[in-house]
Amino acid sequence: MHSFDAITGGWDAVCGASGVHETLRLSAFRTVRRLPGPTAPPAHVVRYRCGCGDDHELLMSSVELDWAPIRSTFGEHFDLMTGRMAEDPDQGVELWWRSMRRGHWPVTLHCAHHRAPVPAWPSCLRALEPDDERAVSHLLVHYVCPLCDRQGTQVMRPQALELVPRLQ
Ligand SMILES: [Zn+2]
Ligand SMILES: [Zn+2]
Repeated sequence: MHSFDAITGGWDAVCGASGVHETLRLSAFRTVRRLPGPTAPPAHVVRYRCGCGDDHELLMSSVELDWAPIRSTFGEHFDLMTGRMAEDPDQGVELWWRSMRRGHWPVTLHCAHHRAPVPAWPSCLRALEPDDERAVSHLLVHYVCPLCDRQGTQVMRPQALELVPRLQ
């Protein structure tokens, strides 16, 4: 299980070359391949660009990909009332719920077949091609639209792929 850390904004991943723990952000994903077969929840092979400069692969379930960022976000926080660290498992879900009501989903797609932005999830992505692997300013993102199942492509900045709720 690759846990998601709300503070660093990524999943915990271990570099296969150095053994160092890395934070895997969505913008470091390069391909997402859903494994064939009736696995429930579906399993995906994620190839990503590691801090060591090589690409590695991870096996991730849809729960890890799509739900872990929402479930874990700010689950642990500093409670001003008690002056201690507190854990509220519903806190992240609540923040994301408010964010999504304002139109900020974990991933926002602009499918040509819908007029409104499409609420989407990390598992909707298929491939991310950065303009410059050493200094990424934008990525060509290939996805499968969750509403119409068609493939699409759009240009996104790395900031648009940060898995943080936006309350403004
Ligand atoms: Zn590595
Ligand atoms: Zn669509």
